[in-house]
Amino acid sequence: MCGIIAFVGKEDGRKFVLEGLKKLDYRGYDSWGIAGVNNDELWHYKTTGLVKTELIGKESHIIIGHTRWCTHGKVTKENAHPHVSNDEKIAAVHNGIIDNYLELKEMLEKEGYKFYSDTDTEVIPNLISYYTNKNPEKNFIEGFKQTIKQLKGSFAIAALHEKTLAFARVNSPLLIGVAEGEIYIASDAAPFLEKTNKAVFLNEGDWGYYEKGNMYLFDKNEKPIEAKTEEIHWQYNEQGKNGYSHFMLKEIYEQVNTIVNAAAQPNIQNAKDEIKKFSEILLVGSGTSYNACLAGASFLSKKNIKAIPVLASEYQLHVPFFDKEKIMIIVSQSGETADLIEVVNEAKNAGMKIIGIINVPGSTLWRKSDILLGMNAGQEIGVASTKAYTSTLTIFSLLAGEKIDETELSKYTNEKIKEWHEQAKELIQKIKKDLFVIGKEEALSYAMETALKVKEISYIRAEGLAAGELKHGTLALIEEDVPVISIATKETRQDLINNALEIKSRGGFIIGIDSKTHPCYDYFISCKYPILSIIPGQLLAYELAISKGYNPDKPRNLAKSVTVK
Ligand code: GLU
Repeated sequence: MCGIIAFVGKEDGRKFVLEGLKKLDYRGYDSWGIAGVNNDELWHYKTTGLVKTELIGKESHIIIGHTRWCTHGKVTKENAHPHVSNDEKIAAVHNGIIDNYLELKEMLEKEGYKFYSDTDTEVIPNLISYYTNKNPEKNFIEGFKQTIKQLKGSFAIAALHEKTLAFARVNSPLLIGVAEGEIYIASDAAPFLEKTNKAVFLNEGDWGYYEKGNMYLFDKNEKPIEAKTEEIHWQYNEQGKNGYSHFMLKEIYEQVNTIVNAAAQPNIQNAKDEIKKFSEILLVGSGTSYNACLAGASFLSKKNIKAIPVLASEYQLHVPFFDKEKIMIIVSQSGETADLIEVVNEAKNAGMKIIGIINVPGSTLWRKSDILLGMNAGQEIGVASTKAYTSTLTIFSLLAGEKIDETELSKYTNEKIKEWHEQAKELIQKIKKDLFVIGKEEALSYAMETALKVKEISYIRAEGLAAGELKHGTLALIEEDVPVISIATKETRQDLINNALEIKSRGGFIIGIDSKTHPCYDYFISCKYPILSIIPGQLLAYELAISKGYNPDKPRNLAKSVTVK
């Protein structure tokens, strides 16, 4: 969460930083700001809302910028980054959480420092200032070094002072783009790919600074390290919305193609051979990726491969059983999910191998994976994930030995998706307050994911649950006209219909997503290709958001890349 971008070069960097922030705003978009140095004087600007690219501030050759996803303190101008030290000499931007900020704040307050925001971040520039002033040479880098030693938690930081830019990475993504006479420090490569595809990837605990045209890098033990540049084979390609009103809609319509791309997996055989060697696979993800793991577990278990879905944020329950006999498959669109990075670190400590199903090349989890199965979904900009989900399901079905039936898939043309889209527009009348979505086996995943989409972008309370669980509690909420989507697959159809009839007997309104219709359905959506059963739900969520006047691409309180725990 949050996007950091910093620039040092011979030109005025304001345009680059502002445009870079726009490219990063999918990481957080509640407020933003930039700070630069002009004639050795620090200036800064911050505000709430979406990034605007009109030039602000003064010409600067060294600048930092930030789009925020608040963790500590509300969305206000005061809480937006950059934060500036009391003496107005040091500005800092931060991604992550400083766990010990209260202690540090108390210490600094005793030293006479004043605080103007509710953030954890504000301690950073002031602590750097404190340690800078404490050392005899008043050396900023010494102050920065002392500061990062004191900070506990997760952070990516960029801080500037006069002509020096310092940066550090601990459990939050940060990399350095390197071009002729310019460097860019950023949360991901998107903002600088137009300028260079050469980047230095920082490892956990690495830090450094750029001063007078030279870069200095150190590891967590302060040992100088070489700046090894690598090439990034990825293009930032925000081709625009391609005629669609939102990125999410464009991404929903792209799915038949992205499924075919996901199926073109160079590493699939390698991964299949590898998993055969283990007695158990843990499938780990968060949010949509976890929902995909539920389907993955169903596909694999049907082929007698023991696969256990694990919620990344609840992985601790499984830690006592992490061992070399098991292998882990991780799923992440961004490749930066903080919860998942923690699980991977634990698993690696236990000697486990990691297979990564990741969309963003070069991301942290991409780099941590022993075997990579790239989703090949292309950039996903809508915050609510759509095509990454169906790509993951495709990869899981290949891992389970299934083939993608391209003939069947080709029947799902744009026209067919448009038909579902029209049905979604009709259905929004029926969904006012609550929605339930039921499924079984792999369709439990579709049910959970449909409900998640509806929650994420339309803010309607939606519950996805195992059809068989209804009678164990949730049925109590069913009354006249309560909408329930029932997603059936060939194997589970009879059970789903029985459950749908139980709901119908209590007045519920049944929307059946099924390969053929049934008298119990009050509304029928036809789908014969199970993985695609999610698309009507994605379209329904989209239309619900539109009908309520919400922007489905940027839902409130959420961000695309979840880099805090
Ligand atoms: N914890 C900081 C804040 O709330 C940074 C959050 C972020 O990563 O955007 O301002």
